[in-house]
Amino acid sequence: MLYIKTYGCQMNVYDSGKIQDLLLPHGFIITDTPSESDVIVINTCHIREKASEKLYAELGRLANFKRRKQQEGKDIIIVVAGCVAQAEGAEVVKRAPVVDIVVGPQSYHELPTLIERIRREKKWLVELSFEESKKFDALPIDISSQSISAFISIQEGCDKFCHFCCVPYTRGAEYSRSPEKIMKELSYILDSRNVSEVTLLGQNVNAYHGVDEYGNLWTLGRLLEVLSQDERIKRLRYTTSHPRDMNDELLFMIHKHPKIMPFIHLPVQSGSDKILKNMNRKHTTKEYLEIIEKFRAISDKIQFSSDFIVGYPGETEADFSDTLQLVKTVEYASAYSFKYSPRPGTPASIMSEQISEEVKQERLAKLQELLEVQKLHFNQEMLEQEMKVLLMKDGKKKSQWIGKTEYMQSVIVDKVPHGVEIGDIVTVKITEAFTNSMKGEIRDFA
Ligand code: SF4
Repeated sequence: MLYIKTYGCQMNVYDSGKIQDLLLPHGFIITDTPSESDVIVINTCHIREKASEKLYAELGRLANFKRRKQQEGKDIIIVVAGCVAQAEGAEVVKRAPVVDIVVGPQSYHELPTLIERIRREKKWLVELSFEESKKFDALPIDISSQSISAFISIQEGCDKFCHFCCVPYTRGAEYSRSPEKIMKELSYILDSRNVSEVTLLGQNVNAYHGVDEYGNLWTLGRLLEVLSQDERIKRLRYTTSHPRDMNDELLFMIHKHPKIMPFIHLPVQSGSDKILKNMNRKHTTKEYLEIIEKFRAISDKIQFSSDFIVGYPGETEADFSDTLQLVKTVEYASAYSFKYSPRPGTPASIMSEQISEEVKQERLAKLQELLEVQKLHFNQEMLEQEMKVLLMKDGKKKSQWIGKTEYMQSVIVDKVPHGVEIGDIVTVKITEAFTNSMKGEIRDFA
């Protein structure tokens, strides 16, 4: 039995799906209950606060569990995967000898072999190599998921080296898959599963630069355009974009192809130019706001979400006010915000002028209050409007479905008797709007 616990971003959720698909053909059955499992995989994230402390606390609990199982004569294999594994390497096993395998994000295609070796050799293993092309070629295609939304990784790694971020160290240099490989994988998924929505994933997805078999360079815009012609796909999304890589071609494609959702996740992190420079973000607030204006000028349907870090080293009250001002200027549909927390090995972690926890907490609360107000306001603007909603799954009540608007707002609707099923796009009149969800009535499903 195999139990996988996933922390962090969509890339990690995608990776966990791949780990599952990789191990199921080797006789594993997936379980939601760790106590039933023979192999436990913890797929870690290094972005969130205190990621490694949380990992070691969890490994402490697992050590007791493993000991109990050993007394019952059962051997449990514990695998630490993902970005903390890559960042900490053999240190994980030194600090937590309960761990059998440490595997980085570019090496988990080796897991079946590593598990086999552990069973034979009974000695811990660390695999952290960085050959992305090998990884993608070795991974199985995700056809086991039941979701009508499919994720496909088109790009990994990053060359931007923001001073707070460990991705360039844990995921390696920027790498784009070839368009043929992406389309082959996608075609296989679409032929095997009921998929309506496809999300292209990349740490810098809009920096995508895949090369086809004839040596031609493909951009994200071109890839989206070609995929939008596939009749099986109803909606296309892509995440995460970097302001430096935004271009007119992408803007044109969003405007031209209604299947490409007019909702752009464009992290800015701070509204202060001083902090952006200290973060090594390689863009200013002016450049960021110009991108937003440009997109909105071409279509008022386009909306934005973002990521923010508050309490970055050296952030003054004035810098934080600039962030609040930027949020007020843009008016986001939704956003993620976090307190800065140092990542070992990153330049920001050793900067002087670290901000106290108390100040960080205070600023985060203020920012989140503003973002929540904007989110509620955005949802309330939809009241009485008719929106296109993709039906994703059954609701908590059997008589309801939950769907998503073009802007990822959750909408609860009552089921209609005939002619509609999960995976369809229906027209819904919004009747109630809250901060995290909306309610509506299906008006049309032709
Ligand atoms: S752009 Fe910056 S924040 Fe994003 S992955 Fe690269 S280094 Fe990290």
